[in-house]
Amino acid sequence: MSNFPARAVVDLAAIRGNVRALAAHAPTAQVMAVVKADAYGHGLVPAARAALEGGATWLGTAQIGEALALRAAGFDARVLTWLYAPGAPLEQAVAADIDVSVAAPWALEEVADGARRAGRTARVHVKVDTGLGRNGVTPDRLEALLDAALRLQAEGVLDVVGIWSHFAFADEPSHPTVLAQAEVFAGAVALAESLGARLEVRHLANSAATLTNPAVHYDLVRPGIAVYGLSPVPQLGGPADFGLVPAMTLEAELATVKTVGGGQGVSYAHAYVTPGATTLGVVPLGYADGIPRHASGSAGQLGAPVQVGGRRLGVAGRVCMDQFVLDLGPGAREVAGDRVELFGTGADGGPTAEDWAEAAGTISYEIVTRLGSRVPRVHVDSETPATDDDVATPTAAIGAVGR
Ligand SMILES: *Cc1c(COP(=O)(O)O)cnc(C)c1O
Repeated sequence: MSNFPARAVVDLAAIRGNVRALAAHAPTAQVMAVVKADAYGHGLVPAARAALEGGATWLGTAQIGEALALRAAGFDARVLTWLYAPGAPLEQAVAADIDVSVAAPWALEEVADGARRAGRTARVHVKVDTGLGRNGVTPDRLEALLDAALRLQAEGVLDVVGIWSHFAFADEPSHPTVLAQAEVFAGAVALAESLGARLEVRHLANSAATLTNPAVHYDLVRPGIAVYGLSPVPQLGGPADFGLVPAMTLEAELATVKTVGGGQGVSYAHAYVTPGATTLGVVPLGYADGIPRHASGSAGQLGAPVQVGGRRLGVAGRVCMDQFVLDLGPGAREVAGDRVELFGTGADGGPTAEDWAEAAGTISYEIVTRLGSRVPRVHVDSETPATDDDVATPTAAIGAVGR
């Protein structure tokens, strides 16, 4: 199927459907699909296209380079980018009609500079730190920054089109900071409007707030993880509870299947020892591919779950750089080349990225975004039945390079 014995199959129909579901959760707001970090590992360009087809009208990226890549790919939707350091290519961003966030006085100066050099008016979203304690201007410095921004607006250098912020505890909707941040945000919006800003979009909600907190949807919601069908609030509900379908299935072919005797130590440090004569299967994915070493099995306990031939097994022993091992059991029928599913939609009881996150002591975000560049992304579309051609290398190759 490809020259790499594993792949992340990304169903673009799931992304489309997830955006439709998110739009239905936030009927009064526009949807910005956050496609930073290669669309959370799903492939920037195909994922962005599917999100727009699903009804997103904005795309969001952390890095300017990611935003420029969207323009280079021909997308003309609104794009917001928000994380950069002094010396960033803001002239290029403004020239490419990309909305830029401003979170500090130096950033305002550099955006203004970039706009003058680009010879066009920049669209600016002022980022307010309403309590996350990360990026953004603190409320005590907001008025000065807005004053400066509105002076530049009067000169035609830029337009302040947005006020925005981000939650610290969106995944705990009843946490007291959620309400406190929403109040600070409302104050920031009121201040900007009282100073004469004509705001086009006020935005605060990530996936969790989009799904659980309609009071903060404002004009625009910014879901990321939910676009890819993973729950931002696993303690409150899985994807299906919110009308979401995980878009990525990570699968591999068994590279080696062999029988061994009892008492055989397996993989580095022999963290797993076969309890009796059995069959071992080698899965050709390891931590270089983003398989967390923390998902290893330990003495007496299997690691993260995988599905083989309808059976659920767990990682036996250590995850290595390129591979890990499964104990397929005595008399196993599997042969080299048989398919192993690491995670997917969870339908039919299969493991999910959330299961891997639990096994590795992390969150599903990290499982999908850390998938290595060595793993091909193969884009499929379950709404358009695949032909034999689609399954062969051409689609795989296009999928792998089109990210
Ligand atoms: C990543 C990010 C989002 C999306 O967050 P999810 O939890 O994935 O929905 C939204 N806004 C900002 C500022 C972000 O950095």
